[in-house]
Amino acid sequence: MKILKIEARKVLNSKAQPTIEIEIRTEKGTVKSSAPMGTSIGKYEAYQMKTDDAIRKFNVIKRLFISEYFKGQKDVDIFLRKVDKTIHFREIGGNLAIAISSAFLKAFSLEKNMEIWKYIEKEFGTIPKIPQPLCNIVGGWNGKNQFQEFLFLPTHQKSFTKSLFKISEAYNEISHILNENDSNFNYGKNIESAWVTSLNYKKILEIMKSISEKYMLKIGLDVAASQLYKNGYYNYGDEKINSHDQLSFIENVIKDFPITYIEDPFHEDDWLSFSTAVSRWRPKMVCGDDFYATRINRLLSSVEKKATNAVIVKPNQVGTISDSIEFCKEASKHNQTTILSHRSGETDDNIEAHIAVGLGCDYAKFGISGERIVRLNEIIRIEEEMNNFDSKSEKIHTMSKNLKEKINRI
Ligand code: PEP
Ligand code: MG
Repeated sequence: MKILKIEARKVLNSKAQPTIEIEIRTEKGTVKSSAPMGTSIGKYEAYQMKTDDAIRKFNVIKRLFISEYFKGQKDVDIFLRKVDKTIHFREIGGNLAIAISSAFLKAFSLEKNMEIWKYIEKEFGTIPKIPQPLCNIVGGWNGKNQFQEFLFLPTHQKSFTKSLFKISEAYNEISHILNENDSNFNYGKNIESAWVTSLNYKKILEIMKSISEKYMLKIGLDVAASQLYKNGYYNYGDEKINSHDQLSFIENVIKDFPITYIEDPFHEDDWLSFSTAVSRWRPKMVCGDDFYATRINRLLSSVEKKATNAVIVKPNQVGTISDSIEFCKEASKHNQTTILSHRSGETDDNIEAHIAVGLGCDYAKFGISGERIVRLNEIIRIEEEMNNFDSKSEKIHTMSKNLKEKINRI
């Protein structure tokens, strides 16, 4: 594919902070993609360079992308690893790397006249699938509750669209219940568009439990425990607890509520507690986010230790599309449930919807309101397109069956 022009610009993310957007022009047209940004950034994540510095770096390396010929996405990502040989993209920044990588993903899809998820299938041999939604409903860390996120996920899924509208009804109902129970509640939302409440975690979980059956939903928790861990202890305000007590604490919480998903219940180096949790809490999903930081070497060591049964995939944690896909494929190979996730600092780019479908992820962890809906709405459209395609091929199938029968009769 011939690149006619490649440019970088500074745009806003949903946290009102600057982030980098890359625009590529080819003979087929112009595409752009931007880098999201985390708040609970794991220590194994790609380096997040200041946006102005990343743009300066880009201006130094951009001519390389014009002079080089790339056959497909893999070539671009190999090239990025040649330009910056450090594991965490210390030289050019993981944010610049992922913005370039995902802009190329869009450019190649356009080049081949394919939807992005379809191009992923062709280039990487994945099996696309519509995921289930996993949505942040109530935000934590208000000083009284210990968890970063309280989420809803469907019990069973007939279609993504049906599950999503059930979650959205529950999200709105929760706001009215919070309003009745929390005198400080004012329909405020946090940076991921989850409700902000001053209630404690037990009260939040009781409220979520009270409506979960009506909407056929289960509860998820993101503990983001690395953020609580300091000098050998998990810190809860004035209280400090060790790993053993952390395990018992979470265990007590999950046995009292219909919680089927627990993300990062321990800090990113606590392999032993993760392994213990997987075997004791089975069949619940024990998921690694900061724990893996989308890094295949960490996944491979965990597989031996059976440290999780679910993984978060965040492309900007690792810096390239190919690395994210390799991580996700390897995780599925080892029977891990796969969850493609947004970041708390998002942009108006909906590429993560295509990545979730293209990779065949089991869940898509996206925000349910505000600027976050661009990803969820894109999956609704992809689902519709896939259904239309299926019913068309069904028709073709039926026609050819009828034709065969006719021919047989002759
Ligand atoms: C998360 O931890 O799952 C999350 C989306 O937050 P952040 O982007 O801050 O890592
Ligand atoms: Mg997380």
